This record gives sequence, C-alpha cells and structure tokens, in this order.
Amino acid sequence: MTRFDYFRPAGLVQACEFLSAHSGWAKVIAGGTDLLIAVRRGQWPPAGSRGAEEQGAVPIDNLSPERTRAWVVDVSCLQELRGIRDHEGLIVSIGAACTHTQVAESTEIKRFAPMLAVASESVGSVQIRNRGTIGGNIMNASPAADTLPALVALDARAVLVSPSGTRELAVAELVTGPYRTCAREDEILARVEFQKLPQGARMAFTKLGRRSSMAIARLSCAVALVPGPDGTVREARISAGAAFPRPVRIGAAEEVLVGRVPDAEAAREAGEKAALEMVRVTGVRWSTDYKHPVLSTLVARTIMKCLGREEGSAWAR
Ligand SMILES: Cc1cc2nc3c(=O)[nH]c(=O)nc-3n(C[C@H](O)[C@H](O)[C@H](O)COP(=O)(O)OP(=O)(O)OC[C@H]3O[C@@H](n4cnc5c(N)ncnc54)[C@H](O)[C@@H]3O)c2cc1C
Repeated sequence: MTRFDYFRPAGLVQACEFLSAHSGWAKVIAGGTDLLIAVRRGQWPPAGSRGAEEQGAVPIDNLSPERTRAWVVDVSCLQELRGIRDHEGLIVSIGAACTHTQVAESTEIKRFAPMLAVASESVGSVQIRNRGTIGGNIMNASPAADTLPALVALDARAVLVSPSGTRELAVAELVTGPYRTCAREDEILARVEFQKLPQGARMAFTKLGRRSSMAIARLSCAVALVPGPDGTVREARISAGAAFPRPVRIGAAEEVLVGRVPDAEAAREAGEKAALEMVRVTGVRWSTDYKHPVLSTLVARTIMKCLGREEGSAWAR
C-alpha cells in the first residue's frame, strides 16, 4: 500500500486552504470506506507521489505545499459538516460528515425523507454505516450509491465550500458520471439540503442486490408521490440507481402518473417507461436483457409501496 500523510484540520476554512495549497496531492477523507479501498487498489495517491516513510516525520502543522507529497485531509471531525437540521420548517440540511447510521436513525429524515432513511439503512453492514458518510457516498459518485436516487428524488442540493467561497448546485448536477463529480479539488461538500415535500407525500426506496445484506445495488429505485385533493397524483418523482450513468429523475416515468389515480396499471406503465428511458440513455448492453424487465418491475413495485399496497388502486392508509 502506498504511504500518505494525514492532516486533521481545525476547521472547514483550514481544510479548504490545505486542499488548495496541496492541489492534486491531497484528498478529503471522511469514513474512508471508499477511499481506503481505492488506496489499496493503487488508484490513489497518484503515481509519482513520495511516501511519508521516505520523507521522515513532518510536524502536523506544516502547511507548506510540497507538490509531490500525498495527504488525506480528515473532515470527519469538523463541526461544520455535522448535524441534521430542520431550518425554519421548510428545509432540512444534512451535514456531509453524518454517517449512514445517523441519517437512518434521524427523526427528521424518517419523518420528511423516509426513502433516504431506508436507503442509508441499506448501505453495507452496521460497521460500514457507522463509519461511511452521506458526503462520501455522494462524492464517490458510484452509480450504485444507495443515497443518490433518494437525494435526487428529493431534488436535494449540495453546498460546496472552497477558499473562493460557497457554491450550491443540485446533487443531480454535482455527479457528472460514474465516479465523477464537477467538484474542484479544493472544494469540500459541507452539506446537502432539500425542501420538505407537501404534507401527505408518500415515499419509498427499494434496493435489489445479489443477496439481502452487505450487497451493492444491482438496481435501486426511489419514488416520491404527492397526492392531490381529488386522489390523483399531483407530483411524482422517480429516480433509479445503477441504471443510468449519473443520477437523474426519470421524467418520462413521472409523467405517466401525474394527474392519474394511481393503480397497479399506472405503476406498471411508469415502470416500463423508466426501463425504456434507461435503454435510450445507456444503449443496449450485455446487462439489458436483465435490467430492462427488472427495472420496470422494481419501479412499479416501489410506486405500489408508496401507495401502501402490493396491488389494487389509490392510496392506502
Ligand atoms: C464492505 C463495504 C460495503 C459497502 N456497501 C455499500 C452499499 O451497500 N451501498 C453503498 O452505497 N455504498 C457501499 N459502500 C461504499 C461506502 O461505504 C459508501 O460510499 C460510503 O458512504 C462512503 O463514505 P465515506 O465517508 O467512507 O467516504 P470516504 O471513503 O472517506 O470518501 C469517499 C470519496 O469521497 C470524497 N469525500 C468524502 N467526503 C467528502 C466531502 N465532505 N467533501 C468532498 N469530498 C469528500 C473522498 O475524497 C473520496 O474520494 C460499501 C463499502 C464497503 C467497504
């Protein structure tokens, strides 16, 4: 394993300055459950970095940029990245360093974004959920990341901080492709925020893996439905994991439901539209024979889960 050094910043500003000063040679670490695997696979630090061992001990407060020295900057302890807050009753924010366990157990998340609580609960094992963070899950940008479909269905926004200030963008824009984001090297994800859906909104998340625990998603799906006063769907939000190169809302499937009294037939049609959209975006691949029918069914089932029933029509409960 390549050696690298460790920096524990006193605050978010210092962390950003350190990243900026060591651009290309420093990486944020939170739980380390993705990054340390990348290190073990030789994907980081970059070739040409000098190991800490070769250089001897360096004081931890030495911030001078040494261009070939690799560092991890530990943000897991930063107060600015912690906590789940309900702001002025409209917006909920989640610190990037919140672990999956904290997200899954949060009263606010269970109440206002139950599909995200279920998604976090489905990540890895207890040990992984206790260390792995929501920020790491987003910034690692795996197409199979469990929280991404739920965050995209929530229209969540990411708040990035750097020495040049703060910028905010949709999580769906932040992730630009498999394992790629548009974040700069000196930017730290501070938090994600979402607007609460109207009262009465229903949400569900379903994950399909090769086994029921400790499995990376083969496919996943998050659905939020807002009922209108007449029992039709006023707003639908559908997103799928491990289906598209980047997390998106599947407008073609959402349109099937809006203005309709939701039932098993509407759910089936929406599922089929979602699968067709996946094939349109990704093209026909070796996995399409499996993924097309399975995504179609998964989306339909998740819609029915939102309604609180396996079959039949309209909103149960
Ligand atoms: C055994 C095992 C099982 C797993 N199972 C699942 C699973 O079922 N579902 C799933 O979705 N994932 C799974 N994972 C992957 C991983 O646990 C999650 O993606 C986790 O959320 C990563 O968070 P972390 O804090 O450990 O990230 P880290 O490893 O610390 O960081 C990951 C990446 O994000 C960057 N980063 C982290 N935080 C920030 C920040 N605040 N700002 C900017 N960049 C940042 C890092 O530089 C790095 O590139 C599993 C991993 C393991 C080892």
